[in-house]
This record gives sequence, C-alpha cells and structure tokens, in this order.
Amino acid sequence: MAAPVTAELLFPVTVTPAIRLDYVLQHFQQAYEPVPLVAIGYEPTEAAVTVAEGAGRFFTETAPCPAAPNWREWQGQRVPFFFDDNPEGELLTLTPGQARINTDVVAAAFYLLSGWQEYFSAVRDRHGRFPYAASVQKQYEFVAVPVVNYYFDVLKAAIEHVSGVPLQPRRWSGAPFAAFISHDIDSLHGGWGTAARYQLRHFRLGGFAKLLARKAIGQPAPWNNLEHVQQATTRLGAPSTFFILGDNRPAPNGTLNADYAVNTAAFRARLGRLAAQGTEIASHGSYGTATDAGKLRAEIHGLEPAAARGNRFHYLCWEPTRTPTTLAQAGVAYDSTLGFAEHFGFRNSYCRPFFPFDFARGRAHDFLEIPLNVMDATLHHPEYLQLRGEEVLPALRPMLVEIERFGGVATVLWHNNNFDPANELNGPRQFTELLNYLRQQGAAFRTGSQIVAELCPRGKDHRAD
Ligand SMILES: [Zn+2]
Repeated sequence: MAAPVTAELLFPVTVTPAIRLDYVLQHFQQAYEPVPLVAIGYEPTEAAVTVAEGAGRFFTETAPCPAAPNWREWQGQRVPFFFDDNPEGELLTLTPGQARINTDVVAAAFYLLSGWQEYFSAVRDRHGRFPYAASVQKQYEFVAVPVVNYYFDVLKAAIEHVSGVPLQPRRWSGAPFAAFISHDIDSLHGGWGTAARYQLRHFRLGGFAKLLARKAIGQPAPWNNLEHVQQATTRLGAPSTFFILGDNRPAPNGTLNADYAVNTAAFRARLGRLAAQGTEIASHGSYGTATDAGKLRAEIHGLEPAAARGNRFHYLCWEPTRTPTTLAQAGVAYDSTLGFAEHFGFRNSYCRPFFPFDFARGRAHDFLEIPLNVMDATLHHPEYLQLRGEEVLPALRPMLVEIERFGGVATVLWHNNNFDPANELNGPRQFTELLNYLRQQGAAFRTGSQIVAELCPRGKDHRAD
C-alpha cells in the first residue's frame, strides 16, 4: 500500500482545460492520417469545432471517479460518456461550417487516457497494483470497449463536417492494425511435473519414461524453450519480443523473480543468437523496480550487448503516482505493462499506444506506452477468468474487432511456459488460434521497438513543441 501523500504532492500542476485539450489532441493527431488544420476549443471561442465544457471543478480536486456516465449510442456501440451535462440532448450539432459536440469528450478522454482514476485512488492490491475491481471499467462494465477511441470518432465526425475531408485511422505500413506478440520469461528451469502429469493423463508411458530419463541425465527442463518459442512465433508470421528478468533473487517480501541468471556469458550469448534471428530482447523489470529507477536502469544495462529499449514489469507492477517517472528516468523508449491482470481489455480505454500523462509537469511523458490487452494467465487462473481452451478466441474476438476498427495494436503476452503442449487451457494451441486469427484479419506483426520507430520516427524529439 502506498504511503498517504498530500494533495500538493500528488497534484503539483493544475490540470487546466488547455492542458487537457493539448494532451488529447496530441493523441488524436497520432490516431488519424494527417488531420486538416481545424480549430477546436471550448466555448466561448471562434473555433469551428466547439466542445461543451462539462467537467466543472472535477480536475481541480482529487476525487478518483466522476459522476456516473451517460450512455449514448454511437456507430452501433453503446458508449459511456463521462462529463455529459446534456444527457437528453443530441451528441453532435452540425451547422454550415460549424460543429458543436454537446458533451465534454475532451475531459472524458483525458480522464481515461491519463489514468486519473488510478493516480488519485488509494486502493492497491497485495502487489501494490490498482485492482480492476476498483476501476470504472469494472463498475460500468466497459473494459473491452476502447471508449476513448469512440470519443475520438465523435471528434473525427465533427472535423470531417467542417473540413469536408474524410479522416482515416492511421495504418501500419498499409495494414489496417498491428499486433505486438510478447513473452515474459519468468522461468526456464521448471515444467517437469506439469509435463509428467500430461504424459500420464494421456497414458503415454513411453513419453513419461523418456521425460524421467531426460531429467536424470541433466537435460534442459521443458520450459527452457526460448528457441522453440521463437520458432513457433516465427512460423506463425510474427517476430516477437522477449522480456527478460534482470534479477534472480526473490524480492524482500518473498515474491520470486527469475529462476535463471542473466549475468552469465552463456546466457547473454544465447540472447544474442535469438536477437540475430529477429527476436527483440527487452527488460522485464523485476519486483520492486516499478518504483526504483536506479535498479531498473541497472537491469536494462545488464542485458547488454542486447540494446533493450522496452520494458514490462514483472507481475504487471505499476504504482500510478511513481512508475511513469521511474520509466522516464530509466530512459526506456517504451513500456508495455498497462493492462489489468484480472481481465483482458483496455486499462486506459484506448487501443493505440500513447504517451503517459506526467502529472508533475502537466504534459505527456516522452516514452510510449503500448498497452497490454491480453495475458495468457488472465484467461485461466484461480483468481482471474476460468475459460476453457475452446472459449479463449471467442471471448477475445469482440475486443480484437475494436482494435481492428480503430487501427490499434493488439498486444499479447504469452509466457514461455505456456508453450508446453501439457497446457491445454491457455497453451500453444490457443496461442496458435489467436495468431492465425490476427493474421487472417490482416494484422501487421511488430516488435515493441518497431512500433516506436513507426510512431516516433524522430526518436525522443517526436513532440511538436
Ligand atoms: Zn513476470
């Protein structure tokens, strides 16, 4: 649990309407093909597109949640609109050369994209994480709908009306959406028991005997399979990213980190061979590094000669008031931690990569967050969902359709231990079905670094200012 902090510490910069508008439009412009120069602003203004101010004093105070949203239909989807002061009125009023959006889509987009609810909530789980159970996504049941993209779609309709220019979601080198396939590497030396039980469950006594013999002569464990994982994903048409833990000592609270050591010449040479075959090597920040920039930086340097540019925290640890600054200080180009462990979907209600909001400076951070949409463990776990193997793809498909619709990135985490055929629930078969679906839908498969290169071609000076 985070120590209580004062409102001044949490809130050094007043988040004015101009700051919110700037942050939201920065992302809007990245979501669509070159946006025509149309003035957008709050009333009173001469702008061609006006937005009704609906947030009142909400952003000058520290409540985590606004009033309940008003549900409206937009493009066939029921969408929750926060800060809607005009619940009975029409959403959009179009007159010649003018468009008025009658609900505060800018405040609502800012609220969700900035992670305001987590920043100002004191609720944390035993790993210090903001729990899905405390979220507005859970409360109003919209975790699998990228609500901010729908707000952008309203804004898009307004801009198209005044400019006469149709806007298209930004494509990925011609592909309608992208997929980011990744593997957190927690364990290489386990899996003997799981594999043995699988052989016995299927009455394969020969296989069971072979397994015992392999263990007896010191052969690699079933989960020591990085090359197999690489081949399996490559065969499915996807380069992928391995997030490697930089610490094999348990955390002070006993939570396990890696069961392998990264600092041996043999292991680094192995990572080098994987990288030479097209796999991206990135950092899997060990337990505690989400609030410790020095240790995170040391772990990233510990992966050299691999030039790790990205990170995802072990256990998806993320302390909203400290982790974005920690990542900025550690100098990462991207992070991919922000998903809920308990449920697949959109933690910031947005299906494209975004720049986390810096509450201390009132502007976007310079590193990219590639939000995590689905983790294998979420799909079948005593504390999360309990889907059967054949239920996995049908459960995920509506979420994936939303990503396709808005030109987003489908970010998938499949641990290396779930490439063991002994896992028939969230194992290699379900992974293959998911990747085949993404490929059939025309996804461009990208590593995290490739996504950064495509969205921020000029590196860290990508910002307009
Ligand atoms: Zn992990």
